[in-house]
Parts: sequence; structure tokens; C-alpha cells
Amino acid sequence: MVRVIMLSPPGAGKGTHSRWLTLQTGAAHISAGDLLRAEVARGSDLGRQVAAYTERGDLVPDELIFRILAPAVVAAARDTGGYVLDGFPRTMPQALRAAQFGADLALASNAVIYLTAPEEELVSRLLDRAERDGRADDTLNVIRHRLAVFAKETAPLVDYYRSRGILLELSTDRPEAEVQADLLDWLEARGLMLPVNGQSRPGHAEQVEIVPPSTGDKSRDDQPVEQT
Ligand code: ADP
Repeated sequence: MVRVIMLSPPGAGKGTHSRWLTLQTGAAHISAGDLLRAEVARGSDLGRQVAAYTERGDLVPDELIFRILAPAVVAAARDTGGYVLDGFPRTMPQALRAAQFGADLALASNAVIYLTAPEEELVSRLLDRAERDGRADDTLNVIRHRLAVFAKETAPLVDYYRSRGILLELSTDRPEAEVQADLLDWLEARGLMLPVNGQSRPGHAEQVEIVPPSTGDKSRDDQPVEQT
């Protein structure tokens, strides 16, 4: 079963790609942003605390994040054994604590997908989304701030997971079908998914990057499972 972390700056497509991947695999989709927005919409005290951060594009403190996300991850463990973590972890302390949590629940992640696109493309996608969805944090100033927060707090996780040999970097500055095909190929090559009907898929394109395991000469499938 796939246990995937989607790591990407705002606007790179982690929601989009998380959604089809969960439909295709039966894993649970756990969206940090959606869970936070639901808490805000509920109007709870916790939701009011969360909104003070999300409105500005600042990260919500780790304690609040864990309080909101932990029940969803535990439910995923019970119901499906797999997950697509969309927007979590976003800081090194979150990643380290999640690794411990994953080990305790025997729910360690086995893949990290890092989605990229040029910065101006990210901004323009988010401004388009603002017109469609009217999300409170999709204004130009807050978008720029979220991108800066990503560069400072979240980008270091790329090297952390890359060095563990479980990172796939994919450009999303191209047709969605190509991104999907590359992602499925990679998951299949790592034994995390069965080939879809054993057939080649439309939109197939060459893989952008596979980072080989950093240690020894074992095959990928023999690699120890990384922990989130
Ligand atoms: P985006 O990636 O476009 O910023 P999300 O819906 O994933 O959108 O997140 C929206 C906001 O929720 C973030 O700007 C941040 O304030 C908060 N948030 C989401 N995930 C986390 C997290 N793991 N840690 C802290 N804050 C988070």
C-alpha cells in the first residue's frame, strides 16, 4: 500500500495529484490544509487559533497541527493501511516527529513526491484559483509570503528525504497526464503499486528523476522502508 508524502510549494499541484492517487490506490487522502479549513469553518476555539496563522500564510504551530492531524492518520491506519499526506510535514521538527509517529504505528512512509513549477507559474495558478474558489489566503501578498515560508521552512525537507532514497522530483509545468504517468511508473518500479491492467498508459513520458538509494547495492525493493 502506498504511504506517500506530497511535498510541494503552494500551487504546484499537491491537492490535484493527491486526489487521483488516492482514488487509484484506495489509500486515505489526508490534506492538512483541508483539515485546518474544516476546523476554522467549525468556529471552534482551536479553529480560531488556526485562522490567525493561515490568514497570514504563516505555518500553524506544530502542537496544533498534530492535534488536528493525528486522528486522521490513526483512522487511515485502521481503515486502509495507506495514506497520501497532502501538505504535511512542512518543517523539519514536523518531519522528525512524524517519523517517530510512523514508527510507533507501523505506518512509515515509503515515498515522497516533490512537485515543482516555476515561481511565476505557481503565483498565476493560485490567482486563478482565487477567482474560482475564493480562498482567503489566495491573495497576492499572502501567496508571496507562503512561497517564502516554503523556501525557508519546507524546502530543507527535500534534501532530508532525497538522502534517504525515497524522493521523486516531478515537474508539474506540463500536462497533468504526463505527471500522472511518471508518478505511476515510479511507484510501480518500487513495487508500491501494481501495474494498471498491465497496459501502458496514455500520456506516458520519461521519468524526470529517480534518486537511487544512497547506500549499498541492494535493489530498490529491498530498501528499508523510510519512516515519516
Ligand atoms: P498551500 O500549500 O497552497 O499553502 P494548504 O491548503 O496545503 O495550501 O495550506 C494552507 C495553509 O494551512 C498554509 O498556508 C498554512 O498556514 C497551513 N498549513 C497547512 N499544512 C500545514 C503544516 N503541515 N504545518 C503548518 N501549517 C500548515
